[in-house]
Amino acid sequence: DDMDVSTIWMNGEYVDWDDAQIHVLSHGLHYGTGVFEGARAYDTDRGPAIFRWEEHLERLYASGKPYNMEIPYTPEELTEATVEVIKRNDLGGCYIRPIAYYGYDSLGVSPKDNPTDIAIAAWPWGTYLGEDALENGVDVMVSSWRKHASSQIPTNAKTTGLYVNSLLAGEEARRNGYVEAIVLNKEGNVAEGPGENIFMVRDGKILTPGLSQSILDGITRDTVIQLARERGYEVDDSAIISRGELHTADELFFTGSAAEVTPIRKVDNVVIGEGTRGPVTEELQTAFFDLVERRTDDHEEWFTYVDEQ
Ligand code: PMP
Repeated sequence: DDMDVSTIWMNGEYVDWDDAQIHVLSHGLHYGTGVFEGARAYDTDRGPAIFRWEEHLERLYASGKPYNMEIPYTPEELTEATVEVIKRNDLGGCYIRPIAYYGYDSLGVSPKDNPTDIAIAAWPWGTYLGEDALENGVDVMVSSWRKHASSQIPTNAKTTGLYVNSLLAGEEARRNGYVEAIVLNKEGNVAEGPGENIFMVRDGKILTPGLSQSILDGITRDTVIQLARERGYEVDDSAIISRGELHTADELFFTGSAAEVTPIRKVDNVVIGEGTRGPVTEELQTAFFDLVERRTDDHEEWFTYVDEQ
């Protein structure tokens, strides 16, 4: 296989990559009724360490709530499965994708006797937004697509169906020569990226849209807020940011489990700050990688060491 991974956990069993298949009439395929996570394990001196796994699991269960979806495994069982998948595939640093979805039974929109199926896969995944993105930053456009309002669909649940909007925004950006999009919410304020939260630095202060702005409650967002506060920065984590403020920001950056901490150097071809990774972004990015690669010993509680499970 192309990802050099042989084993995926599905409904309690370790199955070969090629056998990890589902029925074409699965509810989740037709109606977007899946909830999922994206986490990373980092290579450390003590082997692969999953970053903030407990929080990812908590969010997975919470994402199922609005859909009355109960995941039929305990956090301990899902952790064991994940650790085993990483070990069996002999992975070091990797991306981890748990997904739970309504499976095959009837095809009414209402999931009656449809089972909640669940799988966990892991594979090596490099930088999300390109090789030099972490250092040099990315060019982004403000999408013409708006994010769904949280009154229309729960945006704090990481639901598969939501990512149709992410695809529209991201592909519009890429068709226009940009690397990624920024998506405004229904009110026209800055929400987030298609798969990232967004931060702004202005006059030494750090701002990020609040949870009421129709965003996902990002775990990297929370991490960066804590790292920034620990370093003495003032952080407004319930900011309302207008489109125009993006252009006059000193610095902008994305956060996400996949995107990590990625600087934004231009928005709609307007240069942000000096047009390079800014000093605050660099400080927080360095703090982030020092943390997750365990060059520091702070926040030990955030790490699940695969080889020690
Ligand atoms: N917003 C959206 C829409 C996302 O898909 C993601 C990625 N999960 C994020 C923000 C960042 O969240 P996290 O830091 O938990 O990966």
